[in-house]
Amino acid sequence: MAPRIVDAHCHLDAFSDDELIGVLADARAAGVVLLITVGMDVATSRRGTGIAAAHEPVLAAVGLHPWNAQDFPDGAPVAELEALAGADDVVAVGEIGLDFVDNSWLGLSYADPALRARQERVFRDQLQMARRLGLPVILHSRGAHATTTRVLAEEGMEEVGGCVQFFEGTPADVEAYAALGFGFSVGSSVTFPGAAGAWHETVRAIPPELLLVESDAPWLPYHGHASTRSAPADLIAIGAAIARVRGVEPEALLGAATANVDRVLRTVRTPA
Ligand SMILES: [Zn+2]
Repeated sequence: MAPRIVDAHCHLDAFSDDELIGVLADARAAGVVLLITVGMDVATSRRGTGIAAAHEPVLAAVGLHPWNAQDFPDGAPVAELEALAGADDVVAVGEIGLDFVDNSWLGLSYADPALRARQERVFRDQLQMARRLGLPVILHSRGAHATTTRVLAEEGMEEVGGCVQFFEGTPADVEAYAALGFGFSVGSSVTFPGAAGAWHETVRAIPPELLLVESDAPWLPYHGHASTRSAPADLIAIGAAIARVRGVEPEALLGAATANVDRVLRTVRTPA
């Protein structure tokens, strides 16, 4: 029997309404039974909640991404996000977190302590909102795992839990997040030949009960993909690559990742 797949992290707002019909049909044909679309700011979070309301297999997370934190000197737009989070299909706060790797798209250096402080303020605002609402968090953390895990502990986030999206780190980072009860969603980075070695060690270090899979669609297509955009249906290829790294069967890997979703993201009830 083909596995039932959950895409733990995608950006469906980035597809047009017309594109979405095909993307969701392809996902269904590939065995994807549930998709969690995440926000980058208020506008994308709003569109994500609209997509979740209109399409049954889609759930939404709302949040302000660290790449947008520089525009919010007075903290995260909590009132607007909290209003969106009231919808039935909203199951998490995300994509939120910290990114200390220089941003070539925006031409920003996060070595600037003022920008880091702004990111942390916006992050903490949203962690507190998540606890208030009883929602797990979906984290973006690049070059910042030590600070991210410290902030999660300081904010008492074990209470709601969550996962680290497009996780890339070391086995020690895995331990630090796992100690807080956080899971890991792994994406296309396992498919790149240059990513072998240390990164594959880390992928093997993730406890089986904490592993989720994600497409991050439409971003970050897997190595060798014919298109510059990715889609949730790519989880067949991504799952096969993760399974190869961990030395298990793809069906078993994808099935286990689906069974993990409701435990890692506690508000989600994967359809039977
Ligand atoms: Zn993302």
